[in-house]
Amino acid sequence: MKEKKLPAGLHRDTLAVRTGLPASQWGENSEALYLTSGFVQPDAETMAHRFANPQEGYTYGRTSNPTVTSFELRLAAMEGTEAAIGTSTGMAAILLLGMGVLKAGDHVICSRSVFGSTLNLFAKEFGKFGVQSTFVSQVDLAEWKAAVRPNTKLLFAETPTNPLTDVCDIAALAELAHGAGALLAVDNCFCTPVLQQPVALGADFVIHSGTKFLDGQGRVMAGAICGRAQWINEVFAPIVRTAGMTLAPFNAWVVTKGLETLGIRVQAQSANALAIARFLEAHPKVSRVYYPGLASHPQHELAMRQQSGSGGAVLSFDVKGGDPGSLRKNAFKVIDSAQVMSIATNLGDTKTIITHPAVTSHGRLTEEQRQAAGIGQGLIRLAAGLEHAEDMMADLSRGLDLI
Ligand SMILES: *Cc1c(COP(=O)(O)O)cnc(C)c1O
Repeated sequence: MKEKKLPAGLHRDTLAVRTGLPASQWGENSEALYLTSGFVQPDAETMAHRFANPQEGYTYGRTSNPTVTSFELRLAAMEGTEAAIGTSTGMAAILLLGMGVLKAGDHVICSRSVFGSTLNLFAKEFGKFGVQSTFVSQVDLAEWKAAVRPNTKLLFAETPTNPLTDVCDIAALAELAHGAGALLAVDNCFCTPVLQQPVALGADFVIHSGTKFLDGQGRVMAGAICGRAQWINEVFAPIVRTAGMTLAPFNAWVVTKGLETLGIRVQAQSANALAIARFLEAHPKVSRVYYPGLASHPQHELAMRQQSGSGGAVLSFDVKGGDPGSLRKNAFKVIDSAQVMSIATNLGDTKTIITHPAVTSHGRLTEEQRQAAGIGQGLIRLAAGLEHAEDMMADLSRGLDLI
């Protein structure tokens, strides 16, 4: 399973296109897709050796697959980590992280603004196995500090958050985690390694939902953990082998090809998001825009430092209105008037996606809980795609002009 030989010191854009296993004996230029559940062994002795040392050769699809290996090598190279391991979904990556790092009696500190399923996984599912979790403010480091206990094992952060784009300071959280003898995992779904490399800022693990920007065209589900080789090979790989949250080779292949264009897509989609955010900020029917690329964002400077000077491709905004009922009516008017954008809940797609967090991702909260989280009925989230920014602004104007 030796990586293709490449010269040292290549740029991330080059690694994104060139990293992987060597071509097969046929010399294919595009990465091969190995759709097979099992691998034929040359002889019984080799079979015995490979089953005892899974690093040395392929045996069975739950354990590993060359297409999945190429994806892992490429993503690790882009994140600047020693290794990576693919999983079936982004949530499976977080499940794997918890299974590898935590045991009964351990404590987790997590931002309360992370992805909803992540909150549930820590609070409800891991809670059943005796893992305690404390949820703290995304932006107030003092709350993270105050939550540290002698049994704190893991700090978990996601930045920027969905949908309000709050940014936390990865380097400060890494310092806090390591001072407490704990580990820091960062969900890098929104920025991708193109804008932000959490391990370079001190994090121990990077979590990915490959379903979003890494695929980038809304086709398949995938996930990954990136980190030190020892953790990946000795802790996480044996769990995947046993528990089976394996990444399917077809999905790995799609995402591997997605990584080749990740750099240009994220840059172009972020430029579109900035143009749309500026347009919305100046619009008389919009009361507030949440986008780290705007100077009005509370953590604008931190975001620019941490995210390679970019706000990313996701933004949210509040339309004007009165009570929650009229805010909702106005937001729905904007969403329903869009003739180009997709009404959907995914993000990171080449197609711009518009959604209403209060009735989707935050639909199960009470109105009071939503208000506390800052998710009003007038809030709209927009994940910018690759369409022309002017067409997106015109699409938004259709509904905003009706308010
Ligand atoms: C979508 C998402 C996940 C979960 O990924 P799936 O591939 O849907 O399981 C995790 N974190 C963030 C920030 C996400 O947006």
